[in-house]
Amino acid sequence: GLASRLQSVFGKLRGKGKVTEDDVNEAMREVRLALLEADVNFKVVKEFIANVKEKALGQEVAKSFTPGMVVIDIVNKELTALMGGSNARLERSNRPPTVIMMVGLQGAGKTTTSGKLARLLQKQNHKPLLVAADVYRPAAIKQLQVLGGQINVPVFTLGDNANPVDIAAQALQHAKENGFDTVIIDTAGRLHIDEALMDELKNIRDIAKPTETLLVVDAMTGQDAVNVAQSFNEQLTLTGVVLTKLDGDTRGGAAISVKAVTGCPIKFAAMGEKIDALEPFHPERMASRILGMGDMLSLIEKAQASIDAEKAKDLERKMRNAEFTFDDFLEQMEQVRKLGPLDQLLDMLPGAGQLKEMKNLKVDEKQMARMEAIVKSMTKEERANPDLLNVSRKKRIALGSGNSVQEVNRFVKQFEDMRKMMKQFSSMMGPKGPKGGLK
Ligand code: GDP
Ligand code: MG
Repeated sequence: GLASRLQSVFGKLRGKGKVTEDDVNEAMREVRLALLEADVNFKVVKEFIANVKEKALGQEVAKSFTPGMVVIDIVNKELTALMGGSNARLERSNRPPTVIMMVGLQGAGKTTTSGKLARLLQKQNHKPLLVAADVYRPAAIKQLQVLGGQINVPVFTLGDNANPVDIAAQALQHAKENGFDTVIIDTAGRLHIDEALMDELKNIRDIAKPTETLLVVDAMTGQDAVNVAQSFNEQLTLTGVVLTKLDGDTRGGAAISVKAVTGCPIKFAAMGEKIDALEPFHPERMASRILGMGDMLSLIEKAQASIDAEKAKDLERKMRNAEFTFDDFLEQMEQVRKLGPLDQLLDMLPGAGQLKEMKNLKVDEKQMARMEAIVKSMTKEERANPDLLNVSRKKRIALGSGNSVQEVNRFVKQFEDMRKMMKQFSSMMGPKGPKGGLK
């Protein structure tokens, strides 16, 4: 993927004491290829490379003690800027209800995202109303009702014989009369952009006067996502984009080029089918994710939301200082389980791209259980002080956990590698953490 390609480019730079113009040129050639392969729009790539080169060849790089890091930093900042710089929030109307109109092609994820958005707003103490304005797709209304039912958000519908414009108008009235502060209109899509679809959407828009017109695009569609965004924007003047299916095997190109080509900020990212799988889109986090620097911030944020805040803070500190013990490992595994799919989480961790590629570090639940058993067979002292483990202790642990000594050795080695990686990461990022160190 894009991340691992860029990592290998930068890996070469990082090891260098001195970076010449040729090095920068070579790295940029590789970056260019990696971006094109990831389906980033070619114009965007061209401009991006030109910007980075200009900055990289400027005074800073040659003078720096860590020229490789400076180049990476420039790429990181430019990528972030390309994706909009900072998180673009949802606008609210000063005359409630705020109307959010969801548009996009069929199958992009409009209905699912409507439900997820209602969920997100509900968590922020808003009172959303979902509106079923897709009267064409079979069972579209039912689909929205099921989602609404999961989160106790009412769904306004007039059945599938009604006119979508009437539905929108009456839904708004209903919201005003019943104290809903946000109205989310789920509209119909087509397999291709056509006039009939656009006309209907324009009519709904004229009646509902949405504060937000969000285009839902499937990130897996790559270049196409950008074309779709461009034509919807021309017709409807979008206020934002939601990228869906970022959990899939997407090459990430859409995320990079949508904002650059259309000028519309990506406001949310959807990474799964579950109702909670929607997050505000943070360009700086996406950039460091793409560059394989991990997404400590969103990992920590996620941890804090679903886990004991104290524990998460402690873990963060330990990771930074590489004071990680086996006990922490156990604790972390428990937390990781609470957080969700391991692969997805690993993607957020620094260096995890490489980690996953290492054959002996395949992530599977069975192996996690084995690791857990090994740690649990250690004494308190051993867990707190990994350096204590000698041959006879390892034998005892193997016996106690029902593993071979080799397996214990392998695990301890992995643990040590992980600690080393954390240490590297924290020194790379500097004492102030990811922000202070790099920016
Ligand atoms: P709509 O036609 O635009 O309303 O699209 P739907 O909301 O019906 O979604 C189409 C399909 O994509 C459904 O099977 C969803 O479960 C799935 N889907 C939507 N968002 C995501 C996502 O972020 N990740 C994954 N993996 N699937 C998604
Ligand atoms: Mg739908």
